[in-house]
Amino acid sequence: MTAVVTRFAPSPTGHLHIGGARTAIFCWLLARHSGGRFYLRIEDTDLLRSRQEYTDSILASMRWLGLDWDGEPVYQTQRTDLYNRYVDRLLQSGHAYWCSCTPEEVEAMREEARQKGLKPRYDGRCRERGLGPAEGRCVRLRLPASGKVLFDDMVKGKIAVDVAELDDMVVRRADGMPTYNMAVVVDDHEMGVTHVLRGDDHISNTPRQILLYEALGLPVPRFGHVPMILGPDRQKLSKRHGARAVIEYRQDGLLPQALVNYLVRLGWSHGNQELFSQEELVRYFDGTSLNPAAAAFDPAKLQWCNAHFMRETPLPLLAEMVAPFVEEAGLGTPAPQRLEALCRMFRERADNLRDMAESFRPLLVPAAELDYRQKDADKHFTGAGKAHLRALAGIFGACAPFAAENIEAALNAYVADNGLKFKEVAPPVRTALMGYMGGSHLNEIMAFLGREETLARLERPQGGV
Ligand code: GLU
Repeated sequence: MTAVVTRFAPSPTGHLHIGGARTAIFCWLLARHSGGRFYLRIEDTDLLRSRQEYTDSILASMRWLGLDWDGEPVYQTQRTDLYNRYVDRLLQSGHAYWCSCTPEEVEAMREEARQKGLKPRYDGRCRERGLGPAEGRCVRLRLPASGKVLFDDMVKGKIAVDVAELDDMVVRRADGMPTYNMAVVVDDHEMGVTHVLRGDDHISNTPRQILLYEALGLPVPRFGHVPMILGPDRQKLSKRHGARAVIEYRQDGLLPQALVNYLVRLGWSHGNQELFSQEELVRYFDGTSLNPAAAAFDPAKLQWCNAHFMRETPLPLLAEMVAPFVEEAGLGTPAPQRLEALCRMFRERADNLRDMAESFRPLLVPAAELDYRQKDADKHFTGAGKAHLRALAGIFGACAPFAAENIEAALNAYVADNGLKFKEVAPPVRTALMGYMGGSHLNEIMAFLGREETLARLERPQGGV
C-alpha cells in the first residue's frame, strides 16, 4: 500500500467523544499501517462555540489513546488568507462569481422552490451578471450545468449525486470569511491528504467538496464515511448509554488500550478476532472491512475488553496507570514495586483502575485504621479464631526471612502439626489481614505487608472488635 496521508479534524466545541475518537483511531491506523502521515487540524472557525480548553482536552484525549500525530496541529482560524487565495483562483478562472443577493432574497428563492415541490436552492441569478467585489457580496461556485458527482466511498461503496441536486454554493461569505467546505478542501489539499475518513454526518458535504477540487483543478482524495455509533437500543447514542467523552472513561479507570480495541471493533472486523494488540491493529487495518451499517454500543463488551487488558498489560505499565487513582483515593504514592505487587495480587479481581486502586485500600492503611466487615469479623474472630491468630503471630514473629515461601511453609506446618484443616485457620487470618473475606493469597498479602504490619493485624482482634 502506498503511503497514506490522513487527518483528524475536530471542531473544538466540546470534549472528544467516542464517535470522534473512533474516527481518529481509524485515520491513525490507516496512516500508520501504510507508513504514512497522520495530521491534526483544529476546525475552530465557529468563534462563538470554539474554546481553547476543548482543543487542549481533545489533544490530551488523543495522547491518552496513544494516537500520536505528525507535525504541529493546524488551526483553521490562522489560515483565512490562504483560503481566500484559493477563492481568488476560482474567480480568476471563472469557476466562481460575485453575488449580491441578500440572505432574505436567497431565503425567498428557497421558499418559492419549496412551494413548487422542488429542492430549495439558490437559482443562480447573479451568475452572468459579471459583478465585482463590493460590500455585502459573497462569492459562489459556478456548478457545471449537468452531470453527476461520482465517488467510491471506502465504507459505503459507489455513490452518485446529480449536480441538479446541488446549487451554486457560497465559498466566501459577505463578511470575507471562507465557508466551511472551501476551508476543508484547501486544507486537505495543502496538507497533502490522500484519504478523508470521517463521520457520515459529513457525507452530504462530499459532492460539494469534490466539485470544488475539480473547479480548482486539484486531485480528489479518497473518501470514507463511517456510520455513527448507536445506543444499545439502536437509537441515537444517549449519555446514559455511553455517549460520553473519552476523558470520562479515563476518569472511570478504563484502560486506553481497551477503549481503542473496543471502538475499532465497533465498525471494523478482521475475521472473528475480538482482541488485538496495537501492533496487530496497525498490521491488519488497511481501510477495508469497514462496516457500512451503524453499530450499537455495548457497555458489557467494553467492560469485558477492559478486563482483558487489565490482565494483559505489563505490570510496570499497569502500576504507572493505577498510581493516580491510588493517590486520588487518599492512599498516598506507594513506590512503583509496591504498586506492581498490588497489581499482581488484584488485577484479576478488578474491572477497572479505579476499583483496583480501591481494592488496595486494606493493604495501604495502617493496621489500626483497617475497616472490618462486621459480618466476617463476627463469624471468624471467635474464641478458636483468635487463638489461631495469637499462635500464628508467635510463629510469624520467628519466621526468617519474612518472605512468601517461608510464610506459606509456616502456615502449612501450623495447620498440619495441630491436626487442623486449612479452612479452619485461613478465614480468621484473612479477615484479620484484609478486614473482609477477600483478597489474594495469604502468604503474598503477608509478604507485602511485612512482618510488623502482619503482626499488628493478627493482634488487633484480640482486643475485641
Ligand atoms: N470538523 C468536522 C467535525 O468535527 C470534521 C470534518 C471533516 O473531517 O472533514 O465533525
